[in-house]
Amino acid sequence: MSIFAIDLGGTNIRAAAIERSGVILAADQAKTPKSLTPDDLFDLISKLHRGLAKRVGGKSAFASAAIAVPAPAAEDGKGILTKVPNIPSLEGMQLLRPVVEALGMPVLIENDATAAAIGENWIGASRKVDTSIMLTLGTGIGGGLIINGEAFRGPDGSAGEIGHFCVEPDGYACGCGSRGCLEQYGSSQAVTRMANELGMNAESSEEVYRLAVSGDRDARWIFSEVGRYLGIVSAGLINTLNPDMVVFGGKVAGAFGLFAPRLRSEIRKRAFPAPAVRCRIVKGKLGDHAGLIGAARSAMIRFG
Ligand SMILES: [Zn+2]
Repeated sequence: MSIFAIDLGGTNIRAAAIERSGVILAADQAKTPKSLTPDDLFDLISKLHRGLAKRVGGKSAFASAAIAVPAPAAEDGKGILTKVPNIPSLEGMQLLRPVVEALGMPVLIENDATAAAIGENWIGASRKVDTSIMLTLGTGIGGGLIINGEAFRGPDGSAGEIGHFCVEPDGYACGCGSRGCLEQYGSSQAVTRMANELGMNAESSEEVYRLAVSGDRDARWIFSEVGRYLGIVSAGLINTLNPDMVVFGGKVAGAFGLFAPRLRSEIRKRAFPAPAVRCRIVKGKLGDHAGLIGAARSAMIRFG
């Protein structure tokens, strides 16, 4: 039996039927509505579930479900979304019980970046690596920690919220309520904002990426800045956790080649030499599916 996995993102809601080996049997996705209400979300999850069930042999084809959310996922069994910086309309919603009732199977809720870290550690870039850190660079920035082979979540599920590390004390206001968080300097929203501040009229980070690849100096500078901020935080994490690897995923990681040189040079400048040399800085291997695959893996571990 496979796992029904959902990855709730600020831009897209992805769904997949995932085999126990990690192979994706069928996948689907929908755009995340602008001000997504809890009712919209339940409807979308049910619709995606019905659609995928039809393609993989009916609802009984699923053993359990896993939902990756852009929010801390506390292990208290309640599944309440206490803080959702990129989809604030969902804040305070009770997600777990209604979804269990709607789908009629065990459901696990996991932080999306923790899920991505688990996915990459299971069958992706950090396979067989003991201690790794994942940063997902999407609409926001998520972080996941694998320490000695185990996901580390903390009692409130907020462990690894690396996107909300402060890099500019008086910087841009962040959706989390703080100011100057890494998320405001390395996410796709940040790339677009920086481009518009330079008068580029870009509608998306992909557009800025294309300009950078074609040699546009301002666009290239933006990705170097992204690398600088990611490098500052990575250096601190390397000193703190002495990881074997830091993995970058999410759509902005498509520009890894553009921001990695500056990221690496910041690490060399700032981190202690031995852990800096040890730590490999890589791009994830599972692409957009890391969160789905890792969430499914989490459900397999929890429910068997
Ligand atoms: Zn923040």
